[in-house]
Amino acid sequence: MEVKINSILIRYGEIFLKGNNRAYFESLLIRNIKGALKGLDYRFVRSQGRYYVEDFDVDDVEEIVGRLTKVFGIHSISPSVKVATDLQAVSEAADAISPRQGKFRVTVKRADKKLNLNSMELAARIGGYLLQKSPARTVDLYAFDFELNVDVRENGFSYLFYRKIEGAQGLPVGCSGNAMLLLSGGIDSPVAGYVMAKRGVKLYAVHYHSFPYTSELALQKVKDLARKLSAYAGEIELSIVPFTKIQYAIHEHCPSEFMISIMRRFMMRIAERLAIDKHCGAIVTGESLGQVASQTMQSINVTNSVVTIPVFRPLIGSDKSEIIAVSEKIDTYEISIRPYEDCCTVFLPKNPVIRPKLEDAVRYESRLDVEALIEEAMAGIETVTLSVGGSEDSATASR
Ligand code: ATP
Ligand code: MG
Repeated sequence: MEVKINSILIRYGEIFLKGNNRAYFESLLIRNIKGALKGLDYRFVRSQGRYYVEDFDVDDVEEIVGRLTKVFGIHSISPSVKVATDLQAVSEAADAISPRQGKFRVTVKRADKKLNLNSMELAARIGGYLLQKSPARTVDLYAFDFELNVDVRENGFSYLFYRKIEGAQGLPVGCSGNAMLLLSGGIDSPVAGYVMAKRGVKLYAVHYHSFPYTSELALQKVKDLARKLSAYAGEIELSIVPFTKIQYAIHEHCPSEFMISIMRRFMMRIAERLAIDKHCGAIVTGESLGQVASQTMQSINVTNSVVTIPVFRPLIGSDKSEIIAVSEKIDTYEISIRPYEDCCTVFLPKNPVIRPKLEDAVRYESRLDVEALIEEAMAGIETVTLSVGGSEDSATASR
């Protein structure tokens, strides 16, 4: 009897807790699952508090499972063999998918009480069949080499599986609203985006680009990061802001040690306007306290004071090593360390001020026509939408 994985079982977690919102959360989760599986052939089935992906090409199982492990709101995933609930059929399938030898246990979960056997009895009958089919198998409930799980569901089918793969947890992306991520080409900001997406935030992204000082490759790096992130966060619209003129102006009129502080103030102002435009309730950055001169409490105060929208800094208390560990897990690290210049390194002063005073920043900045510079930069914004599997959908923003 040849038996193949024909159903991928999806269990979802925290959204159960949300009572009245459950239908809304589920509709987002389902939409996100379908988004993640874009481009693959399958059928989505919803049944009694679980989801199943079926009718796929068996060669796609690992691809499907890999994509599902990145969808927030999923608790766990089990590639399974689905058979009609019938003792003989279940036993034969169990035999077909089990190793011929080794210590095993059978664990039955019975939601369907129609079979005249309780879970223990059913496990014993299936186990007995496995022993009879191969004498090299032995039962050991505690020190087993493999555990065959049998879920007997109310839909008349039983699902047999070995693997229970941990899902991404968190909340379905979209349920917590939208936020505007300041995405540099560095290690931190993609991780910051990931952390917020995990709490159900749909991300928009903005990148400040200093053409011709930063190259096309630097921009490609940011798009590649956004695409990687989209495996978790869903489709991401990235706004690319030409930043060179602003940098020239600051460089020319302000003391060099205030270069970064004032640059950051421009970044925040533009991000806030974009955020309002895209119905985002917050800005997200990858800042971590004390990591560099521009991330001291005083520096953060100077950059923060130009906006009124909430600014989330999910990595504020994280060490670099912790951030790197996450970036490796979400596979952005290798992209982040590609050696292209970021706009911030182009006019990098030798001695950035570590404890800038807000009134100094304001005073130096008053030498500039802030509004005109912002408007000109915003008029040059280009947007691209990035998603897994999707080709780059590019458009010049018409603002
Ligand atoms: P990262 O690894 O995220 O680049 P970093 O340690 O290099 O972080 P900074 O360069 O000081 O930190 O930037 C702090 C934050 O400011 C970044 O995490 C990001 O959110 C934002 N940022 C910096 N440069 C840019 C940029 N060119 N475009 C968009 N956002 C930026
Ligand atoms: Mg950076």
